[in-house]
Amino acid sequence: MPANIINGAKVAHKVLEDISQRVKKRLEIGARIPGLAIVLVGSDSASKIYVSKKREVCKKVGFLIYLYELPESTTQIQLLKLISRLNYDQNIDGILVQLPLPETINIGVIVEHISPLKDVDGFHSYNLGRLCNRTPTMLRPCTPRGIMTLLENYKINICRLNAVIVGASNIVGRPMSMELLLAGCTTTITHRFTQNLDQFIAQADLLVVAIGRPRFILGNWIKAGAIVIDVGINRLPSGQIVGDVEFDQAVHRAAWITPVPGGVGPMTIATLMQNTLYICEQKEMDNNFQRESI
Ligand code: NAD
Repeated sequence: MPANIINGAKVAHKVLEDISQRVKKRLEIGARIPGLAIVLVGSDSASKIYVSKKREVCKKVGFLIYLYELPESTTQIQLLKLISRLNYDQNIDGILVQLPLPETINIGVIVEHISPLKDVDGFHSYNLGRLCNRTPTMLRPCTPRGIMTLLENYKINICRLNAVIVGASNIVGRPMSMELLLAGCTTTITHRFTQNLDQFIAQADLLVVAIGRPRFILGNWIKAGAIVIDVGINRLPSGQIVGDVEFDQAVHRAAWITPVPGGVGPMTIATLMQNTLYICEQKEMDNNFQRESI
């Protein structure tokens, strides 16, 4: 029997619908509208597509967008100055610096300069550290968090499962391992130096793949009845978008599987919106608390 499809587009729609309703209510009571600053440096074509998608979703849910499109020649100091300004701007809840950055700019320095309270991507070491030491903040990296929301929505119980992650990047693989550990999985991270990858995958009750190689994970490697989460987004020369997993074969072995497109991708953006709204609402609660305590 083919696997059940985990429909990320549908769950993301539900999440965004809820956010839109909350923004509408804020408008009705005259509350401030959440604002997201998006900083794009240079002219990387994939980054431009991602930014335009994020803007589109921001508009859909009713957020204010502050877009900063900076030239490739932008220096690290100039970018740091902009972030300092955004950190203090009361209208801006979340700050997103689209990655990758030009090679002249140190990504780590930039990420650390964003206020952890406005860190919508959840990449700041404060938020990541909190995730690692089991006291997570609400600002957690969007792709892993979005995957957890997907699993929760389908009521898939993952506690005690053997989870294998393929890919160890800072934005997907590593924080994913922390989310799965928190959820009670026995978690293994594999990467480009892992030997006998297929043997690890054969043990996986839950497999999360984020490597950026089209259909690299063969369907017959997958354990029968596994949950397969494909994060990869790869464009073939034909223009077709495919994941990192050989979907057509994997779908006959897995119990649950995410498609590409329409799986993890929409959840990443929906989580970004959740994080932005959260910061806005949290700021208000803090302000009210301060007012009441005066
Ligand atoms: P990355 O290049 O930063 O990291 C890739 C990881 O894969 C590395 O840890 C590397 O060691 C590992 N890897 C590479 N080749 C491997 C191999 N042969 N065997 C095992 N491991 C291997 O990539 P990333 O930023 O994590 O993105 C990975 C993929 O996920 C890309 O296709 C990207 O477009 C996609 N992505 C999708 C979303 C989404 O929302 N769906 C979000 C982020 C990234």
